[in-house]
Amino acid sequence: MNNPTYFIDPNGEEIDVTDLTNNKDEDQQNRDAWLVVQLMADLSRISGGQEISRSQTKDGRTVLTGSGKCDGDCSEAAAFVNHLLSDEGTVTVSGTNEGSEGFPGGQVYLDASQINGLQEGLEEQGLDPLTGGVGMTFLHESLHTKFGASFFNSSEDQKNKIGGRFKDPFQGSKRPGNVVSRINQFREQLGLATRERYFEEYDNKVNPTLLFKKDGNEYIIQSRNIKPKK
Ligand SMILES: [Zn+2]
Repeated sequence: MNNPTYFIDPNGEEIDVTDLTNNKDEDQQNRDAWLVVQLMADLSRISGGQEISRSQTKDGRTVLTGSGKCDGDCSEAAAFVNHLLSDEGTVTVSGTNEGSEGFPGGQVYLDASQINGLQEGLEEQGLDPLTGGVGMTFLHESLHTKFGASFFNSSEDQKNKIGGRFKDPFQGSKRPGNVVSRINQFREQLGLATRERYFEEYDNKVNPTLLFKKDGNEYIIQSRNIKPKK
């Protein structure tokens, strides 16, 4: 995690986290520092222990790069992380308080409080917070970008794409949809619980919840915003 900063070729277009490391007001700075640390740790775990480093490009951007190696067998989840870390395209990460989102051009916005709230909900039920952490949310939002979605290329994948990337299901759908179902494949490969539907449902018509499943058991996880501690 504390790898020394080194300068890499500016045409390398890895995961760009410049916006997360720029100076802003204290609140945003704490939020974004939390996001970048969690993102690196999660991507390392998801990719089978590969070392993720934060580096400076010659043109002044901050990017994440990977060692390209994973411990033991490399899962499809690891291959997807390597795709995002490769220089074939760019995903640019920013923090937000407005809900996590991904856009076709490669911009990904991560909502630290939303993610932290979900992680805490998962932990309360004895599930691994990696299931819905910063890394997994990043992978989800990346599938809303054309570059991220280009990892999936079967004829079935192409049929599921709209405008070159995947979209979440229409309002009211009970299904996980084209993005969550692919993230669930990664979760299964990592032995994590899967998210059974895209939309939140209301517990006693009050608390929005998400449904996860592991080993045949269902887990209703509260969906709420909890600001991460420093
Ligand atoms: Zn989505």
